[in-house]
Amino acid sequence: MTTTTIPQLIDGEWQVSRSEQTLPVTNPATQEILCYAPYATPDEMEAAISSAKAAFEEWREVPPSERARFMMLYQALLKEHHDELAEILARETGKTFADAKGDVWRGIEVAEQACNIPSMLMGETAENVARAIDTYSYMQPLGVCAGITPFNFPAMIPLWMFPLAIACGNSFILKPSEQDPMTPNRLAELFLEAGFPKGLLQVVHGGKEQVDTLLTHPQIKAISFVGSVNVGQHVYRTGNQHLKRVQAMTGAKNHMVIMPDADKNQVINNLVGASIGAAGQRCMAISVALFVGEAAEWIPELQVAMAKVKPGAWDDAEAGYGPVISAQARERILGLIAQGKDEGATCLLDGSDCVVEGYPDGNWVGPTLFANVTPEMSVYKEEIFGPVLCTMSPETLDDAINLINQSPFGNGTSIFTSSGLVARHFQHHIEVGQVGINVPIPVPLPFFSFTGWKNSFYGDQHAYGKQAVRFYTETKTITARWFDAGMSSGPNMTINLR
Ligand code: NAD
Repeated sequence: MTTTTIPQLIDGEWQVSRSEQTLPVTNPATQEILCYAPYATPDEMEAAISSAKAAFEEWREVPPSERARFMMLYQALLKEHHDELAEILARETGKTFADAKGDVWRGIEVAEQACNIPSMLMGETAENVARAIDTYSYMQPLGVCAGITPFNFPAMIPLWMFPLAIACGNSFILKPSEQDPMTPNRLAELFLEAGFPKGLLQVVHGGKEQVDTLLTHPQIKAISFVGSVNVGQHVYRTGNQHLKRVQAMTGAKNHMVIMPDADKNQVINNLVGASIGAAGQRCMAISVALFVGEAAEWIPELQVAMAKVKPGAWDDAEAGYGPVISAQARERILGLIAQGKDEGATCLLDGSDCVVEGYPDGNWVGPTLFANVTPEMSVYKEEIFGPVLCTMSPETLDDAINLINQSPFGNGTSIFTSSGLVARHFQHHIEVGQVGINVPIPVPLPFFSFTGWKNSFYGDQHAYGKQAVRFYTETKTITARWFDAGMSSGPNMTINLR
C-alpha cells in the first residue's frame, strides 16, 4: 500500500498528476489513509483524450480476431491476479474478501465475453435485394469512448465497459470513483501487461469537473455512466446536449415478493444475503420485501436471521459484510433510519449503534429491519444504500405488482414462489427490467445485457452483451452492384433500386 498520490495512465505511461487537489482514499474499517486520488488537471485531461484519439486511429485497423487475442491474455491475467485484485478492492471498499472476489469475478466474465468479439461484430447480409444488388452491414468502432464508474463495484463496473469498448475497436478513457481508485488502476496495469498498444486505455482521476470535461469534449463519442440517479440525469442530459451517445445506469429500489407457497428457509436465507450483503451497497440489493398474505408470519424469523449477521473487517472470515464506504455515507444512512422511526415505521432491528470490536473508527451500520412501512415514508422512497430492509405486507400478488409498478425505479425485482403460474403472471406484468424467479439478485451473465428500466437507466442500449456491442459501434450498410456488359442503362429518376 502507498500513502502517496496514485498515478494516472496517460499515453501509455503512469504519470503523477500536477494537480494540487487530492482526496484521501481510506480503509472504511479503520480510516487509515491508503493513498490519495488526484483530480486530473485540464492539460492532463486533454493529453489523455488526444492520446486516445491517436491510439484509436491505429487500433480501428487491427482485425477483431487479433483484438480478441489481446483480450484472451488480459482475461487470463485477471484470473491469475484474482486474489490480489480482491485484496486491494477489499481494503479500499471494506467488502469482505469473499464478496470482493465476487466483484472481480463478475467483471472477469465480461472480459471473457469480449474474447468472443469477432462473432459479435458480424453484420447482416441479403443477396439480390434488387436485381444484381446485394446489401450487407458492418459494425465499425466509434472512436474515443469514456466510462464514469461508481464506488460500489470498482472492478466489475469498469470491466463492464472498457474490455468490450476496446474489443469493438475503440479507445477508452476511464474515470473511476475517487473513493476507490486503486482497484481500477491495478486493472489498467494488467491491461498494459497483456500487451495492448499504448494509449488504448487511459485512466484519469477526479470528480465532477473531470466528468464534465468528458461530457463536453468534441473528441469523445460515447459515454457509459454508472452511479446515482441525480448524477446520471446530469450525465445523460449534458452528454446528449453535446451530441454524444450516452448510457447511464443509475439508482434503484428493488422489491422481492414472497408468496405464502414459497420455501420459507430459502426465502429467509436469500433475503438476508440480498438485502444486507455488501452492506446493502448494491444497485440490485433488495431493499423492500413484500410478504404477501400469510407469508407475513415469517417476518419474526427473518428478524432472527438478520440479527445473527455480524459486520466486520475485510479479512474477518466470520464477517457477513463490511463497513459502508465513508463516514458521510454512514451519517446519511443513520439519518434515514431515524426518519423511518419518526415517520412511524416499526423498527424491528436498529443497526445505528453498531460496534465492531477492535475497529472503533469503522463506518459500521448493523442489520436494520423495518416493518409496517408505507409508500409515503422516506425509507421506502429513498435509495438508502445501506444494510436496511423494509418489509410490507400486501394482501394479494396483484397488490404487490401494483406497488412495484408505481415505483419510479425499475432495476431489479424477484419473486419467491413454488407456482409456475404465479411466477409467469409476475414476470409478464411487472414493469422492471431484470426479474428473478426464486433468484434474489438477477444480474444477467454477460451474454445477456444489464437491462434496468425507468429511472434506473437512461439511454437506448444497455451495458454489456449484444446491446453494448451496438452501443460501442456504428452500423454501416452497403448496397452494392457490379455491372456486367449487358446491363441496361439510362437515368433512373426514382428512388427505387433497379
Ligand atoms: P455517484 O453518482 O456519487 O458517483 C458516480 C460517478 O460519478 C463517480 O465517478 C463520481 O466521481 C462521479 N460524480 C459524482 N458527482 C458528480 C457530479 N456532480 N457530476 C459529474 N460526475 C459526478 O455514485 P456512487 O455513490 O459512487 O455509487 C452509488 C450509486 O450508483 C447508487 O445510486 C447505485 O444504485 C448506483 N449504481 C447503479 C448501478 C446500475 O447498474 N444501475 C450499478 C452500481 C451502482
